[in-house]
Amino acid sequence: MKPVKDDWYKLCRIYLEFINPKERASVQEWEEYIEKSVQTAKSVGLNTLAFDPYYGGYAIHKGSAAPYNYDIGEADIFSMMERAVHKRGMKLVAFSMGMHFQPYTCRQYPSWVQRDSKGEPIRYTENWLVMCPNSPFGNYLIQDFGRLISQYPIDGIYIEGLYFADGACFCPYCREKFVNTYGFEMLSEEAEREPSQYTKFRESSLTDFVRRMRRMIDQKSPETIWMASPSAFGDDWAGMHSGAERPFEIDFASWGKYVDVIHMERQWGYPTTPTFPLRNIGQSVQIIRAETHKPVFRNT
Ligand SMILES: [Zn+2]
Repeated sequence: MKPVKDDWYKLCRIYLEFINPKERASVQEWEEYIEKSVQTAKSVGLNTLAFDPYYGGYAIHKGSAAPYNYDIGEADIFSMMERAVHKRGMKLVAFSMGMHFQPYTCRQYPSWVQRDSKGEPIRYTENWLVMCPNSPFGNYLIQDFGRLISQYPIDGIYIEGLYFADGACFCPYCREKFVNTYGFEMLSEEAEREPSQYTKFRESSLTDFVRRMRRMIDQKSPETIWMASPSAFGDDWAGMHSGAERPFEIDFASWGKYVDVIHMERQWGYPTTPTFPLRNIGQSVQIIRAETHKPVFRNT
């Protein structure tokens, strides 16, 4: 079933699902597990699944540059999910956590991670490092999703976590891009003295990633929707703790030229333990909608 670009994405009821790898589960067990999980979602009124074609950065679909997930064996889990979703008239969105939760690439390619001004890797947690979109990781993600949408009928791509961490990035790829752009070296003292230049650099680097993903989608499967989420709200990485209405270092006017939907991770904790007042979230939606002229989802 080829993707169709009508208005489905503007009003879709989307949910995010991860698999629970069970060692040596048979293909039949996987089929049953997936059928049950999609049927449950459908029965509560959801009509769009965002599903990660990797588990722990290891592929659970055919054709990736990443190795196959060793807990799963040869089962093409993504294909099973695709059939289960489409036969129910639902939509399938291929999802990635973006710059973080990429254990395969951060272990295999340590030079692709974001670094502080002393050259130390940026850690999201003890085990997970943050990848740099200016490193070959950016191309890797775009190319791998390109292979994916060439092989499977995928209605949308949703990349979350597009951001530079505080104090980043001073990796060799950023340094080279910076000197090629501005004609002088990236210096941490300079970044402190003239932060706007570095902010601009990070902004344009993220826009560049968003634009290249659009170009790839237009080449491989132009009916596929491009959904993107910036995570750098306020002065903390994921914006979980600050009250800023508009994320810093995102050029939304430019993003609006390339993406179809913006997801903003703001509505954490609702309805039981809200992180922000609803009014505050509403302001964010208004601001981002005005800047991008695109639908804005307030998902957690
Ligand atoms: Zn970098």
